[in-house]
Amino acid sequence: MDTQAAVLRVQNRPVSVETLQIDPPKRGEVLIKMVGAGVCHSDYHYVDGHLTNFVGPMILGHEGAGTVEDVGEGVDWLNPGDKVILSLDSMCGRCRNCTDGHPSLCEVNFTYASTMPDGTTRFHKNGERINHRTPTFTEYSMAPENKCVLVPDDTNLEAACLISCGIITGVGAVVNRAKVPTGATMAVFGCGGVGLSVVQGGRLANAAQIIAVDTVDFKLEKAEEMGATHFVNAAKEDPVARIHEITGGGADYAFEVVGLPSIAKQAFNSTRPLGTTVLVGVFPTGAEMAVDGWELLRGRTILGNWHGDGRPRVDFLWLLEMEKQGKLKLDEMITRYRPLSEINEAFADMNAGEAARSVLTFG
Ligand SMILES: [Zn+2]
Ligand SMILES: [Zn+2]
Repeated sequence: MDTQAAVLRVQNRPVSVETLQIDPPKRGEVLIKMVGAGVCHSDYHYVDGHLTNFVGPMILGHEGAGTVEDVGEGVDWLNPGDKVILSLDSMCGRCRNCTDGHPSLCEVNFTYASTMPDGTTRFHKNGERINHRTPTFTEYSMAPENKCVLVPDDTNLEAACLISCGIITGVGAVVNRAKVPTGATMAVFGCGGVGLSVVQGGRLANAAQIIAVDTVDFKLEKAEEMGATHFVNAAKEDPVARIHEITGGGADYAFEVVGLPSIAKQAFNSTRPLGTTVLVGVFPTGAEMAVDGWELLRGRTILGNWHGDGRPRVDFLWLLEMEKQGKLKLDEMITRYRPLSEINEAFADMNAGEAARSVLTFG
């Protein structure tokens, strides 16, 4: 069947919306009619060349939710019409990390390649192979069944799509990875969609102080809406000095949500001895970070964070429940809905610092 999809052919060029052909689902696969797809900074990192593991042409998008259209052989637990949120990572369910509660770092299915986990692709254009992981900037997507999280029928998929990347990465960094305890102080460097989710995670974890750091005042205002308690515009004042002042000696936790080694260093320097720095932002391919070894010796920790160390079939349902109870803000995270055809405009909104999150919809 045909599907409209946003395809990146060459880096540093606009994305084109093209008509592609998609194969029927193979064994263990699910064909999904997309309803909502969040526009995440890491999609743009393919466009701007930050991520060099790009092999074009490739369909973009990785954050999304939709309804089951068809299932391949052996998928006996999903039916057409079921609502699903797509998990970012494919979990085998058998490896050490999967069975130890860390399926986002599955040792069998993890791949940087722009293909299905088995190394093949399902999209093409008149015979030309089109690369993809589990793409969401497309009317129809294809996912291995282990990436599908069945959600309740009353779920608003246009907003819930954010859970699959932005929300789980941010909230999970706080709750699953750092395990921030009640009463801790924390600083959040970068208040885009993921950073705002870190702020929300801090609120869910009952952090005492949540210090939002950004260079765009609009994002700091959004951070306040999400529960941040203090605000630092890093274009106007030194965030490290200010965080030491606010917390009286440094934050217990500092989250880097920009994806730059220089900001990671600032985050590290804003923690107190025994404090923890959590790397959440996506670094450019091959980037390294340096910190003062003596300051590290003073009991500090640096943690990596991959997709919030999420357990999709537990955490996504928990997050939906938190939203129902008014404890997690989803609608408020979305600044604009745009049709798929306006993908380049959605990237422009993001780069102008305008959008906390844009969501693409499928007419
Ligand atoms: Zn993302
Ligand atoms: Zn696994």
